[in-house]
Amino acid sequence: QAKSAERGSFRFFSAEMNRMAQERLALETALREALAQGSLCLHYQPQIELATGRLYGVEALARWTHAALGPIPPTRFIPLAEECGLIAELGRWALREACRQLAAWRAQGLNVPAVSVNLSPTAFHNLELPNIIASALERHALQASDLTLEITESVLLDTNPSTMKTIAEVQAQGVRLSMDDFGTGYSSLSYLRRLPVSELKLDRIFVADLEGDEMARALSNAILGIGKSLQLTVVAEGVENEQQNRLLREQGYPVAQGYLFSKPLPPQDLEPWLRQHLG
Ligand code: C2E
Ligand code: MG
Ligand code: MG
Ligand code: MG
Repeated sequence: QAKSAERGSFRFFSAEMNRMAQERLALETALREALAQGSLCLHYQPQIELATGRLYGVEALARWTHAALGPIPPTRFIPLAEECGLIAELGRWALREACRQLAAWRAQGLNVPAVSVNLSPTAFHNLELPNIIASALERHALQASDLTLEITESVLLDTNPSTMKTIAEVQAQGVRLSMDDFGTGYSSLSYLRRLPVSELKLDRIFVADLEGDEMARALSNAILGIGKSLQLTVVAEGVENEQQNRLLREQGYPVAQGYLFSKPLPPQDLEPWLRQHLG
């Protein structure tokens, strides 16, 4: 009796696994098509200089709306792209698209100072990355300093021999590197000596707890101190309310981004905001 029940549940389990595998495969195929057809897009979130209220730059964030399933969050499709070998292409697309958009805004008289693009560690396996970047910049008559690449601490766990070489080359081109989600990874601080970053991004988990949690305030202050003493710009992410904004300003944070200022928006929807803030 027990045995047949077990067998029944095993059969159920494998049917469930089979269904999940098929769903994943279908999603993978759809992502591949979306990338090929150009139906992925980038939304942009402004980054504000807290002392002056001026625009510091915009962060480009990938968006995908599946025809039947609706919006799929990047936290779902970025790992999928990693697993099915599409991440290099996605990174190339994001770089080109962000450069195109920055140049288009400037052509309209919207002088957005810079654009940040998120890149997966895998993007740095490709020794062609510096060339891909150079041609995207050149095509739109942009300078290397117009572009920032956001990387996470996980690049340091990456044992691919090309990674450090590519990172160094990109930095030598004059492209700024930013350490995203700082304080949440597993790496030791000593890597800050090895990685040529010019910016640190305080992860939004610290910002979320600022108001109620003295420990979070101590940590955000300590991270700002580390950044300052290494002459890095520290950007606070996930600022949602005035209290968080005030606390960060009091601590001396130079730059912040978050829903308080603007959600990430499609380029056309950000334009009224840009017009008002670049005035
Ligand atoms: P991230 O680079 O740390 O991006 C910040 C995330 O926080 C974004 O989520 C953004 O929409 C969200 N956010 C911004 N302001 C606020 C706020 O005030 N409150 C809250 N609760 N959230 C806020 P999103 O767009 O879902 O992206 C999630 C992650 O996916 C990104 O984290 C990044 O690691 C990855 N990602 C997004 N686009 C790309 C891409 O083009 N390439 C790669 N490789 N990764 C990407
Ligand atoms: Mg980012
Ligand atoms: Mg981040
Ligand atoms: Mg984050």
